[in-house]
Amino acid sequence: MTRTVLLLLVATAACAHRAMPPLAGPSSAPVMVSPARVALATAPGDAEWKALGDEATALLAEYLRINTTNPPGNEIAAARWLAAVLRRDGIEAQVFEPAPGKANLYARLAGDGSARPLILLNHMDVVLASREYWTVDPFGGLIKDGAVWGRGALDMKGEAIAQLMTMLILKRAHVPLKRDIILLATSDEEIGAGVGAAWIVEHQADLVKDAEFLLNEGGVTRSDGRGGVEFYGVGTTEKSPFWLDATARGTAGHGSRPTPDNPVHRLIRALDRIAEWRTPLTVTPAAERSFRDLATIERDSTVRRWFSDIRTALRDSVAVRAITGDLTYNALLRNTISITGLRGSDKTNVIPPVATAAIDIRLLPGQDPAAFLADLTRVVADTAVTLRPQGPNWPATESSTETEMFRAITAVAHARYPNALVTTMMLAGFTDSHYFRRLGIASYGLGPFPLTQGDSRGVHGNDEHVSVDALRFGVRFYYDVVARVAGK
Ligand SMILES: [Zn+2]
Repeated sequence: MTRTVLLLLVATAACAHRAMPPLAGPSSAPVMVSPARVALATAPGDAEWKALGDEATALLAEYLRINTTNPPGNEIAAARWLAAVLRRDGIEAQVFEPAPGKANLYARLAGDGSARPLILLNHMDVVLASREYWTVDPFGGLIKDGAVWGRGALDMKGEAIAQLMTMLILKRAHVPLKRDIILLATSDEEIGAGVGAAWIVEHQADLVKDAEFLLNEGGVTRSDGRGGVEFYGVGTTEKSPFWLDATARGTAGHGSRPTPDNPVHRLIRALDRIAEWRTPLTVTPAAERSFRDLATIERDSTVRRWFSDIRTALRDSVAVRAITGDLTYNALLRNTISITGLRGSDKTNVIPPVATAAIDIRLLPGQDPAAFLADLTRVVADTAVTLRPQGPNWPATESSTETEMFRAITAVAHARYPNALVTTMMLAGFTDSHYFRRLGIASYGLGPFPLTQGDSRGVHGNDEHVSVDALRFGVRFYYDVVARVAGK
């Protein structure tokens, strides 16, 4: 019905998921080829930016050669490499080793303390790359056809290099800072749990808890494919995963003698009620703003009218059908439920005493998991079926657009492309930002590299790469945002 802009936002940025076991073994020790360091007396001008882009390209190629496929991750190799690069510029990093082969890196550039710190967060691990589906070595760090190729080029070693370069440039150019800038490179983002950001927040909270802002993955800069930028999507909120196990209990028996309380039958009936349940449509402030912004670049006049006032549109059944028919818009407007796993008996002729199902629920910001569970229990309407959360969950939180950081991002974006739309994004998936939003740190997803729809498919896909031009743009964009919000 329309250009599904947000579909791309979600597909690009939703990152955390369960990874498969790696084919590749642990990576070798990092090799330092020491790309030329660009000397700076003051903040860089155009000539320096050209050389800084070359430096960033060489650094990314080097970083991509460190295999951090998770599991096992082996992020310690990445952390040592990052620490060595920082040390060349006189920035001392702390490397924590919460488990064998695992690491979290922390480095800080000091400001004068008149404003609270800014955290630049990146994860060092990557998802599996199956060599047979790639046309290049996923860990070769190859530079060809105007791009840097390798697993992590987009998710998210490329962005990590933009953050790293920002630190190096600020330090080299002696830029006076009003707030400390913290570089935090963590483990275990791609497996959604472990000893990465969660470990930092739990065991080293003092290092981060006074921060005012955080920049992370989870945003997008959409290229118009003609050398310009169509829009910037800044991640301000994410849905909250609320994963449940549904368990039905009954009487075991032989499959040849059916029993009235076969738990598999009971579970299937309960799951059917869940699958048929249409969760209520809910317009969050983030979704309302996203639709209103999208209306400004929507060409279809009917859709433009709907998007410009989504609350009114959702009272019109034609609009509801059209809008919720789009998977991404649907996920923006309601709590979603996907039944994803089923387990009964291992043997065809045995009625098991217990049957279970796994249910992937994603809650909108502002939703109470306990209240949703109560609603779902009413839908199931069977006391023999229990619903139990798989693990700890958290309410989805949202970072305000009325902040110095959001204004800085908007100003930097418009300085380059005055007509580009700067809008907010809600991720249907999640990143590590939620750990920090819960500490009260306003956290934003940035996608610094202008990408077309096709470029984005490399995230968790094959032949992941980032063009050198996009990398140059992204390094400068990142630096400009940070300098604007932290410089004096
Ligand atoms: Zn990622």
